[in-house]
Amino acid sequence: MTVYSSNIGYPRIGEKREWKKALESFWEGTLEEKEFKEELDRLFLEGIRVQKEAGITHIPVGDFSLYDHVLDLLWTFDLVPDRFKNVNKTPLETYYSMARGTDGSEAMTMTKWFNTNYHYIVPEFENVTPSLKENRFLDYWKKAKQKLGVNGKVTLVGPATLVLLGKGYKETEKASWIQRLIPLYQQLLQQLDAEGVEWVSLEEPIFTSPLDQEVWKVIENGYAEIAKSCKNTKLLLQTYYEAVSDYKKVLSLPVDGFGLDFIHDKGETKEQLKKWGFPKGKVLAAGVIDGRNVWKANLTETSAEVKELLNLIDGDLWVQPSSSLLHVPVTAENESLPSFLEGALSFAKEKLGELKALESGIENNTSFKDYDKSFEAFVAAPLRHNHKVQEEIKELAQLKATRPPYELRAKKQQEKLKLPLLPTTTIGSMPQTKEVRRTRLKWRKKQITDAQYEQFIQEMTSRWIDIQEDLGLDVLVHGEFERTDMVEYFGEKLDGMEVTKFGWVQSYGSRCVKPPLIYGDVSLKEPMTVKESIYAQSLTNKPVKGMLTGPVTILNWSFPRHDESKEVVMNQIGLAIRQEVLALEDAGIAIIQIDEPALREGLPLREEEKEGYLKAAAYAFRLSAYGVKDETQIHTHMCYSNFNEIMNTIDDLDADVISIETSRSHGRLLQAFEDFHYEKEIGLGVYDIHSPQIPNEEDIISNIRASLRVLDEKQFWVNPDCGLKTRKEEEAIKSLQVLVKATKKYRASL
Ligand code: GLN
Ligand code: ZN
Repeated sequence: MTVYSSNIGYPRIGEKREWKKALESFWEGTLEEKEFKEELDRLFLEGIRVQKEAGITHIPVGDFSLYDHVLDLLWTFDLVPDRFKNVNKTPLETYYSMARGTDGSEAMTMTKWFNTNYHYIVPEFENVTPSLKENRFLDYWKKAKQKLGVNGKVTLVGPATLVLLGKGYKETEKASWIQRLIPLYQQLLQQLDAEGVEWVSLEEPIFTSPLDQEVWKVIENGYAEIAKSCKNTKLLLQTYYEAVSDYKKVLSLPVDGFGLDFIHDKGETKEQLKKWGFPKGKVLAAGVIDGRNVWKANLTETSAEVKELLNLIDGDLWVQPSSSLLHVPVTAENESLPSFLEGALSFAKEKLGELKALESGIENNTSFKDYDKSFEAFVAAPLRHNHKVQEEIKELAQLKATRPPYELRAKKQQEKLKLPLLPTTTIGSMPQTKEVRRTRLKWRKKQITDAQYEQFIQEMTSRWIDIQEDLGLDVLVHGEFERTDMVEYFGEKLDGMEVTKFGWVQSYGSRCVKPPLIYGDVSLKEPMTVKESIYAQSLTNKPVKGMLTGPVTILNWSFPRHDESKEVVMNQIGLAIRQEVLALEDAGIAIIQIDEPALREGLPLREEEKEGYLKAAAYAFRLSAYGVKDETQIHTHMCYSNFNEIMNTIDDLDADVISIETSRSHGRLLQAFEDFHYEKEIGLGVYDIHSPQIPNEEDIISNIRASLRVLDEKQFWVNPDCGLKTRKEEEAIKSLQVLVKATKKYRASL
């Protein structure tokens, strides 16, 4: 019985997002394929080198990717839909056209990987002829072996997860698709086996969900087949993000080790292990370091936990993160944060150190007291604790945070705002041109003064108020020119939150996000948006919407603190946003939008936990809008298309107006609203802002017409489906011209 260290995945983006830069330069044509591949190889090997130097025993290979590791597996198995074939393209171009589309062939869908903010390419099982095409996994393994002498643990998504996360088959065909892929896994494994790969990890996070009997049967048979194809290579079955849903079934699969999550399982895994035992002689790869958060582990406690686990098994134990470290930034080394906070951080590279420390510490009975000191100091730091906020949270037990009935509010709002039928508006941000970005950078680098920067922001705002007036929109926005990002902006301003410099994580493709850290009680220091809103409102007689990010989204797009429930943190942020809302109202702002694009993605994996989360989320949102006058109109915005399961919650938010990103799934969404008999106002995006194409008038009119079949004309708002920040100025202007014209035409026909 020996303790080893292991990892599941390492961030691929590089310390300074070199990966992103390389991909984008290659796509733009400023980096040749040869140089591009060299750069990516360099980044791949750098990740391996860091893990080797940290002393990790089982280093993953196969987690690195040219875009997304699921896409790499699709490529390997030639699960390349026909629409991407028969074109004159290099293999690399074809690969990227799957992810990003080309003229004529729509990109494959991208969606969130389980309950994370990482997006994978959704496998399509239609118009495909799978075969083992190019074993990228073996290529990476060889490179690591040849260049760095590392016999990596090859890691890839397993057959059940690959199929069940895919689409393009009937419900009744899913089992047969799993079966059909088994021989390909076998071939792939035989090749790895022949080269001397020691360990292969098959990742099956889908095992955290309940699966039906038929699927289990093909999984059991399939894994038996797969196991037979390895002579020397050993197999690890890896799960994460939750406890497995059927412990006995999973643990009887014929593999050599099991990777289980002991962090996000709410204690279930250890209970199951005690109850049902652990197969003799097999490896337990124990996810005991949080792979999804940025805080240092308490190694005293973790090592005690590992020792306890050791007593429950009779094979080797690997200490590893609870999931891939893809979800955390690369390293905290380059940050310059307040020292109480800096001492508490552990990003990917630092987590490797923790794993290594556990590996050697447990054997030698090392004391971790010294290591744990800095986090203890952080926990006790006065800056983390705000007594007043804690008291306010306690008082919430008595508060329902509901507003007077909607009909009453609606009437008063209409009297005050006097909006026409089918009011037109936008979602908030206007194009963030190169000039905006450049000026912000100059200001951050202190090359221009605060006053100069502020003046620039005002000029942009004023320019866009004029443009919106000329366009004839009914409800205007200030344009969000002062914001880099809708969460980071608030993260910088709220107490209890801090923004990092290089804390990037991959979100989708080359796109990275930089979630702020929530380190303590959150509260409002000073007004965050009032100045900008008042200024914009002073330029026009039309209403300008105040624009805020809601508590649920701020939480879901940040790294949460380690010691408070989601519910409490959401409510704290809700209270802070509420103060801002009231300040905006005081300043004469009549419409306030509180965006919640990330509400859906905080949904727990477990069915039985969903309702509690949704209730808490709706409450925190209502809290943020609680106490405004009836005539103040509260808007919210969401960008997700599967609304059926959250319809009740949407209603529960009790916003006067909700705008929704829908242009890509109009029909289904309308159905949801029809079935629900929603009574408040709705703006269903009438065109897709993600495309540079200017929408045409007929399409917009037909979208309005379709919506009005289901919704009352008094309910309906006309708007683009999301913020315009990524569009060029002229694209935004032209599109909005069409939108206003189409609306006027439609109104005239009523
Ligand atoms: N108000 C934000 C914007 O317009 C909303 C962004 C979002 O939905 N993600 O950019
Ligand atoms: Zn949106």
